[in-house]
Amino acid sequence: MITLALSKGRIFEETAPLLARAGITPAEDPETSRRLIIETSAPNLRIVVVRATDVPTYVQYGAADLGVAGKDVLLEHAAQWGEAALAQPLDLGIARCRLCVAVPEGFDYANAVRRGARLRVATKYVASAREFFATKGVHVDLIKLYGSMELAPLAGLADAIVDLVSTGSTLRANRLVEVETIAPISARLIANAAALKTKRTEIMPLIDELAAVVAA
Ligand code: ATP
Ligand code: MG
Repeated sequence: MITLALSKGRIFEETAPLLARAGITPAEDPETSRRLIIETSAPNLRIVVVRATDVPTYVQYGAADLGVAGKDVLLEHAAQWGEAALAQPLDLGIARCRLCVAVPEGFDYANAVRRGARLRVATKYVASAREFFATKGVHVDLIKLYGSMELAPLAGLADAIVDLVSTGSTLRANRLVEVETIAPISARLIANAAALKTKRTEIMPLIDELAAVVAA
């Protein structure tokens, strides 16, 4: 049996069509079902439904053999556990967006950086933000948030945010502008390193199938 960790919402919605093209259909839709373990049309594959940020944890500890997680989540996970904690066999090319720095319209970010001002930055992505600003030589006070980053500058909590952007409409709606791109983001298939070896004959055909679907 192979266990695949997925999160509800975007990751499930965009992974399901890839699985479908590999001939795999989940028995239930996690958006409407309360079940957290979902069988699939493949007798040896089940899905566990977890929070997006918990996917790497399930896979690292082997409670799931495979998982789908955004590069944003993986960068934060790797900052704590190291790159070697998870095998990353495949870029699925889904849930594409970018990690960026945004500030309120009218905030002169370039000038603040030039004069060496200390910036207050609110984000869920503390490790990625810390590394980005350290490399740039900008002094920051990082404020950890768990959601609605766009509110922080408007409410006077921070000068800037580090957040994911796809179309930019949420930023525009809150009168924020993107001033730096930190990294392009897409969702990755990750694997438990031990399971890749011990369950190789079960897992590799699924990875190969998904790789072919993504390449097509
Ligand atoms: P939770 O809802 O459990 O707090 P979350 O907000 O991280 O978690 P989602 O919003 O479903 O959950 O995001 C899951 C993943 O989808 C993110 O880690 C990221 O990789 C990707 N993602 C997030 N926002 C966007 C976006 N605007 N466009 C494209 N992909 C995105
Ligand atoms: Mg969300």
